[in-house]
Amino acid sequence: MTTSPQATEPANSADHADQAGPGAAPDATNSAAAQKRVLLAKPRGYCAGVDRAVDTVEKALETYGPPVYVRKEIVHNKHVVQTLEERGVIFVEEASEVPEGALVVFSAHGVSPAVHEEAKNRNLRTIDATCPLVTKVHKEVNRFARDDYDILLIGHEGHEEVEGTSGEAPDRVQLVDKPEDVDKVDVRDPNKVVWLSQTTLSVDETMERVDQIKDRFPDLQAPPSDDICYATSNRQVAVKAMAAECDLVLVVGSQNSSNSKRLVEVAMQAGATDAHLVDSAEQIEESWFDDVSTVGVTSGASVPDVLVMQVLDHLAERGWGDVEEVTTANEKVSFALPRELRKDLKDNPDSPKGVR
Ligand code: SF4
Repeated sequence: MTTSPQATEPANSADHADQAGPGAAPDATNSAAAQKRVLLAKPRGYCAGVDRAVDTVEKALETYGPPVYVRKEIVHNKHVVQTLEERGVIFVEEASEVPEGALVVFSAHGVSPAVHEEAKNRNLRTIDATCPLVTKVHKEVNRFARDDYDILLIGHEGHEEVEGTSGEAPDRVQLVDKPEDVDKVDVRDPNKVVWLSQTTLSVDETMERVDQIKDRFPDLQAPPSDDICYATSNRQVAVKAMAAECDLVLVVGSQNSSNSKRLVEVAMQAGATDAHLVDSAEQIEESWFDDVSTVGVTSGASVPDVLVMQVLDHLAERGWGDVEEVTTANEKVSFALPRELRKDLKDNPDSPKGVR
């Protein structure tokens, strides 16, 4: 699985990653037990899909005024959710909780056709902030279901994205989460099986699961293009490039953020001595710094950089003020706002920020 060439540009030659390279020997750690430094991963934080989803809710607030209802957390980040709540957003679990005729925004993780139908039946005005890269996977499900394939969706049970994607063709999709799920899969024709995946998985673990499925179904078909998105894979590549040099890696992200949790796992697999997921600087524990000289810092795709800056301040106060950025890619991706919102922004020239 590779990073989409449209999504990134190569890191420039002055970057740390080009000097040390992924998997470089942890010489600095050995030779300078006393030298405190921070390696800061780039890319990190907000991806194009999260940026668009948060922007959508902010512009909906400006254009229509509060309250704006949002089904599920718009993105999986506590800070973002709390900030929007303070501005008049009401988060609900289901469209059935939204008053008839009100405005509801669907989150970046996507929704099933059944949710669209329910919103329609309740006369809700909807803005769909599903990330276009999640929509791409929904379209793949529809296409393969139409061609009568059994679809094995690799993903985490109960995750909103998986529920939305499976909901496109519930009678054709089977979820493969744990290794033991592969043995439970039941297909009609072993020559017509395709695997697809959640967008925010560990690239390496997903390929392990694919190999396992292939042992059962040698003619297994692959997705037409990578389902794990550019942002997820880029953040994993960046953390891998620095992990072996780190005594401690701090991943800023919320517990329910799939891509953030994967960064902790990837850091440990790539050689970090210790790694923790923290929502913010307040959650960092002093005991984690015992015998630590190099601290790696990164963040999940739903994390605003202000939280990373607070972590850097927290580290600087403890002597880790020397920060070196480890750049493995420069991202240039952005998505247009949802069509239904763009239309209203165009029709409303007084809108404070206009059309993006
Ligand atoms: Fe889209 Fe990937 Fe960001 Fe999810 S992590 S919102 S799929 S760009």
